[in-house]
Amino acid sequence: MEHEYYMKLALKQAKQAYDMGEVPIGCVIEHNGEVIGEGCNMRISQNNALAHAEVIAINKACDKVGDWRLEKCTLYVTVEPCPMCAGAILQARIPRVVYGAANKKAGCVGSVYNMLNDSRFNHKAEITSGFMEKECSELMKKFFKEFREKEKTKKCGYIFDFDGTIADSSYLWVKVDRDFFACRGMEIPSDYAEKISTMSFYEGAVFTKATYNIEESVEEIMKEWHNAAVHEYEKNVALKENVVDYIRFLKRKGHKVGLATASNPEFYLPVLKKYAITECFDAFADGTLKLPNKENPDIYIRCAELMNIETKRCTVYEDILQGVKSAKKAGMTVVGVYDERNRHSATEIKAAADRYIMDFGQELKAMTDHKRG
Ligand SMILES: [Zn+2]
Repeated sequence: MEHEYYMKLALKQAKQAYDMGEVPIGCVIEHNGEVIGEGCNMRISQNNALAHAEVIAINKACDKVGDWRLEKCTLYVTVEPCPMCAGAILQARIPRVVYGAANKKAGCVGSVYNMLNDSRFNHKAEITSGFMEKECSELMKKFFKEFREKEKTKKCGYIFDFDGTIADSSYLWVKVDRDFFACRGMEIPSDYAEKISTMSFYEGAVFTKATYNIEESVEEIMKEWHNAAVHEYEKNVALKENVVDYIRFLKRKGHKVGLATASNPEFYLPVLKKYAITECFDAFADGTLKLPNKENPDIYIRCAELMNIETKRCTVYEDILQGVKSAKKAGMTVVGVYDERNRHSATEIKAAADRYIMDFGQELKAMTDHKRG
């Protein structure tokens, strides 16, 4: 059968694209029983968004016949043409198109739209769709399956905790508490920090109101704390040394970067914005997701899912012992990060983590040294 002969030639072109690591699409143009143009997708190898199989084949065919019109030709292509190629087919006045696999996401010969059968245009083409569909789509499926597997093994995920790990913010709540009492002419009680450390925001406000006879309502107390913290994050919280360079380095290497924190965007975003690294983050597993606290590995696992990276390919940076332990439970590589506030648990963190760092410059150096070796 005639169609089969030419579609097999188009498939041969598609296999050439496949061998070059390109999306495997091939095209041939037939005229009077002769192939007058052929091409395969070469978008990557030619660094050209326009180097689609059909455009390359149309170029060759026009050269060959010495005419911009390709009348009495049939164009065979393994995958349904995109908007650009459907447009090129119109421009070249090609009267017949035979394609293999449908392109549900971008096909403009029936899937998303049918550019070759719209009476508002001055040209139409006769279309045969789904011809040798199985062979054509199998090659595409094979390519994308391998592509996804390659992508998965190439990339790693790096998950950062916020407070105490990348941000020098451990002083913040002490300051908010001190100011809270100072405003009321009181000294902060010496055991206050320890008492409220395990309480939620709400529990802390209830406790504070009852214990220290605060006039304002629980809601007002919470609002005051919240506003004071937002102000402090915006104005004064700094990121730790070398962390910005390290995160930028990871992104340049094509890795994924995520934030796993119980904190909320109104606190951490102004800080990330200040350092212009918000765009470096591919995923935010934060307080808005209402996940269990870090005594549970869920937040790290969710962050890996959001980055689309397997958990075993993720590295977590944490300054809190509980977080280190949970991330280990999730099967991730865990790096303990020094923070003033958690000095007392440094020994335990060192024992539980895969390694321990004082500064992100150490990670940056280890990575660049590794590359050199
Ligand atoms: Zn195209």
